[in-house]
Amino acid sequence: MRDKDLYAKILGVESPWHVTEVELALEQGEVLVHLENGEKRPPCPECGKPCSGYDSRPRRWRHLDTCQYRTVLVGRVPRIECPDHGIRQVRVPWGEAGSRFTALFEALVIDWLQEASVSAVARLVRLDWGEVDRIMARAVDRGLARRERRLPQCIGVDETSFQKRHEYVTVVCDQEAGVVVHVADGRGRECLDDFYKAFTKEERQAVESVSMDMWPAYIGSTKQYIPGAETKIAFDKFHVAQHLSRAVDKIRRQEHKALASLGDERLKGTKYLWLQNPNNMSDKRWTGFESLREGTLKTARGWAIKDLAMRLWHYTYRGNARKAWQAWYSWAIRSQLEPIKEVARMVKRHLEGIINAIVLGVTNARSEGINAKIQWIKYTARGFRNRERFRNAIYFHLGGLDLYPAGLRR
Ligand SMILES: [Zn+2]
Repeated sequence: MRDKDLYAKILGVESPWHVTEVELALEQGEVLVHLENGEKRPPCPECGKPCSGYDSRPRRWRHLDTCQYRTVLVGRVPRIECPDHGIRQVRVPWGEAGSRFTALFEALVIDWLQEASVSAVARLVRLDWGEVDRIMARAVDRGLARRERRLPQCIGVDETSFQKRHEYVTVVCDQEAGVVVHVADGRGRECLDDFYKAFTKEERQAVESVSMDMWPAYIGSTKQYIPGAETKIAFDKFHVAQHLSRAVDKIRRQEHKALASLGDERLKGTKYLWLQNPNNMSDKRWTGFESLREGTLKTARGWAIKDLAMRLWHYTYRGNARKAWQAWYSWAIRSQLEPIKEVARMVKRHLEGIINAIVLGVTNARSEGINAKIQWIKYTARGFRNRERFRNAIYFHLGGLDLYPAGLRR
């Protein structure tokens, strides 16, 4: 087989296009595949009507490498003159309109981006950072445009900090599908208002639960837009655990400082023992932790209060759940540990939402999973300097979107 035929085959080039020449540019490390369109009256890209040619424009598309040579398709793309649509460039079968890459190449970059950061992928495929970033952004636009418009029945809403500590984005997810459905700037009420407002009252009525942190902006918005919000707003275990973990950590830091000044180093290097979920601890670690957690330290007392709170999520009936949490509150509020008392007061104010989470069986596994992935995105995206890119990365990795160029949808 001659190399022209070979490349036509590899590239899937079909009539009216054909390969006229394959040029090996050794010094540039490139294979140039020249293509030509032999059609007399090419169809208009809008209406398909055969039209007379107007002129042609030279174009290049980066393709998958052949044997480590950068492979580039080169050809003149005809422009036609349609009586209804004017002067238009004809479609090429190997890439999307306006793209400088073939669809297969974009798909390869999209696949790599699932596993690695933009800069790592840029090095790998020998593109600059901005080019890879644009492929990612185009993939997200494509995915969002194809997405079915639907309000999830079980919603999770959370804030996540971005770059500098005090900038936030609001992330709304579908708890059942485990995908992010909305990302908005900031963490104010309007972030959630805008999301809800895109749906009809009937659609909002069908929502079964909205799981969130005890955050007034999200509570206010949900109360306004979701009918029956009083029994649907759920303060889930994940968020309650976060508040209690922060409280225990604060107590540990204060106590460690006080003890260390007396030469007592018992709390040194114990931070993660107090924060780790006991269910995820090895037996050895759990046993090693025993003398500390069962001792008389304030940190141990705070930890025990948190540990009990983490066991109060299995009730079926509101009455039983409420009773158990009221007993927990009495213990916590008398603990003489200020950080714990603060959380206890917050829990008391939001108790019905915690009871909702329990009886609705709102699971936090999805939220935790999504949260962990967002942390990974932040970590790998240290080069990201703006919110738009952060938003795109969240949709790209967590949106459950159909990202591939047209013709390659899987
Ligand atoms: Zn037309």
